[in-house]
Amino acid sequence: MKENILIPKPNSTFLHIQCSKCEEKNIVYSHTTSNIYCKSCNELLAERSGGRAKIHGNLLNPLD
Ligand SMILES: [Zn+2]
Repeated sequence: MKENILIPKPNSTFLHIQCSKCEEKNIVYSHTTSNIYCKSCNELLAERSGGRAKIHGNLLNPLD
């Protein structure tokens, strides 16, 4: 039987990612379960990986 209990991940956070293509800053959840695209040019910024997302843009300082 598959366990399906959601446990909050302590390292999850929101990241500030700057698009490498158009330099637009986007806020991305670090453990996103869907791919995140730049809101301005649609470039892939974060790729879902089952854990911490793979970041494709420029990672800026975490939000306060
Ligand atoms: Zn962009």
